[in-house]
Amino acid sequence: MPTTLTQAHLKLLELCPRRFQHTYLDRLIAPVNPDMLQRQQWGTQFHQIMQQRDLGLAVDPLLQQDPHLKAAVEGLLTHAPDLFIDPDPGLRQSEHRRSLPFHGYSLTVVYDLLIVTPQRGQIIDWKTYLKPPRQAQLAQEWQTRLYLYVLAETSDLPPDRLSMDYWFVQPQGATLADAPPSRVSIPYSEAAHRRTDRDLRRLTQTLTHLLASAEPLPQVDEAQGLCGTCPFAVRCQRSSDRHQPPTPISLPAVADIAEVPL
Ligand code: SF4
Repeated sequence: MPTTLTQAHLKLLELCPRRFQHTYLDRLIAPVNPDMLQRQQWGTQFHQIMQQRDLGLAVDPLLQQDPHLKAAVEGLLTHAPDLFIDPDPGLRQSEHRRSLPFHGYSLTVVYDLLIVTPQRGQIIDWKTYLKPPRQAQLAQEWQTRLYLYVLAETSDLPPDRLSMDYWFVQPQGATLADAPPSRVSIPYSEAAHRRTDRDLRRLTQTLTHLLASAEPLPQVDEAQGLCGTCPFAVRCQRSSDRHQPPTPISLPAVADIAEVPL
């Protein structure tokens, strides 16, 4: 039974409990498209460079080997220099992890960058993705909701002093002129905090109930149209190839999975 719940767990659980089971309980995964895998690995590299840079480790040798990575990092430093200044007084930390006990689970977040001053708290997330989604769409993502919820519950600042900023940097192959870094900022509020609290209670209660049963976790209604693009469609008998045997593959440790662009 999973005790740790991340935004990825919540997202799949809400999308389709059976898919949550295949991914996190049965530890199965479908083969990843090689182009997607390359993009994910590049995104992971970008995150590692940003973290190493913050830790004061030398990143120049790595950047010299990859001009796209160098352009992406330098573009961000040029467009958002304030993000790289330590507040005084305050906290500024890369890859900042927090956990919050919640009804038998541990809600866990890892912020790419967290900046907290006596006046405000700012979560920064790097995305190596060319077309930023709309603010309204990002505000509904479990990543946004969980990250802000956990920060509000673990700091002295009220929700309306918190925000989450997504910074979109040009992915591998795009130039700075094509796609300069851009920011989508999501403000937080007491009302949003209450909504997330309610939805987290609902989801965790549902999960506890489902896990207590000997039955497989339920499949989503086929009429919702999610199965057609699901990698487990054959396994779930929801594919036109349903007579072919499924091909399960063992899932690597979650920590080894590359960054998935939003
Ligand atoms: S095929 Fe459909 S029911 Fe099965 S895991 Fe995927 S979304 Fe869920």
